[in-house]
Amino acid sequence: MRILVTGGAGFIGSHLCERLLNEGHEVICLDNFFTGRKENIYHLMSNPRFEVIRHDVVQPILLEVDQIYNLACPASPVHYQYNPVKTVKTNVMGTINMLGLAKRVKARILQASTSEVYGDPQVHPQTEDYWGNVNPIGVRSCYDEGKRVAETLMMDYHRQNKVDTRIARIFNTYGPRMLENDGRVVSNFIVQALRGEELTVYGSGAQTRSFCYVDDLVEGLIRLMNTEAEDIHLPVNLGNPGEFTIRELAEEVARLCGREVRVRYCPLPQDDPRQRRPDITRAERLLGWRPTVPLREGLQKTIAYFAERIDRERRA
Ligand code: NAD
Ligand code: UDP
Repeated sequence: MRILVTGGAGFIGSHLCERLLNEGHEVICLDNFFTGRKENIYHLMSNPRFEVIRHDVVQPILLEVDQIYNLACPASPVHYQYNPVKTVKTNVMGTINMLGLAKRVKARILQASTSEVYGDPQVHPQTEDYWGNVNPIGVRSCYDEGKRVAETLMMDYHRQNKVDTRIARIFNTYGPRMLENDGRVVSNFIVQALRGEELTVYGSGAQTRSFCYVDDLVEGLIRLMNTEAEDIHLPVNLGNPGEFTIRELAEEVARLCGREVRVRYCPLPQDDPRQRRPDITRAERLLGWRPTVPLREGLQKTIAYFAERIDRERRA
């Protein structure tokens, strides 16, 4: 198959491109390189089945493809809040453009949605039928509401134009190729611990998140894209149900980096969700999927990646 991955030079996108190439597909990686990096896909460049297009999804594009994974969108609060209007445009106009393309060439399309559609959830763990608790006018809204509109567009193109759609509600994902400066908690803590700095815990550190290793997530995305079922067009949570407080994460990262736990408490960002854990019953039933990489093992792999980068930086 010929498969388009928008946001393919980013963290999750580059792992997805790699997996799809390994499965023998032709892969077109489309990216505007806002948070993506050429070095994430450098090792794929020599593959004749791999192609890169520098393009912004806010602008239409015509390509002949069989499947589209629409991942283009900055994912970390620091980056999606850098230019919030652009974040909304990417989610709304970008998704319309990709759905228009899917409709025209009859491609199947999967939208990378997010657990942020649940906002600061009042239902725990979060099931797909929960409508969420999102502030529509806060600093996170450009991302949360942008992704909610993207889901609406997916459902409307499906109902109105019979486009073959899939919606993945992705929960916090981590692994090699995260940006060290994008402000997400796993990369922040690892980089801080490796540099011997204090770990910046926002708020009391009692808020929870559930962290999924990137290989597990990519497996879930591919299964969702390729599964046929009557209600498969409705959203599916993809995440690891193991739930940890941010304080627990700090302790685990410090321990695995061989450091004593030194924490600096910083103000909690506005609208920061207090708890988050996916109910993955639907993914288990429809896709036969559940994560297999425990937090400790995933963190060890991620620490090795960052240690190598920091070491290279030091030597340069
Ligand atoms: P990332 O920032 O590493 O990757 C996003 C990619 O999209 C980057 O390569 C960036 O350059 C590209 N991009 C951004 N705007 C674009 C535009 N207008 N046109 C073309 N390319 C554009 O983030 P990620 O963690 O790999 O996230 C990938 C997708 O998964 C995003 O849609 C994100 O919302 C979603 N998601 C991620 C997580 C997570 O924990 N990582 C959780 C929930 C949802
Ligand atoms: N966080 C933290 N220290 C950091 C970065 C983040 O305590 O250096 C907290 C943040 O306030 C949130 C959690 O960790 O409660 C996860 O943050 P992240 O930005 O990784 O993801 P999101 O909030 O989008 O789930």
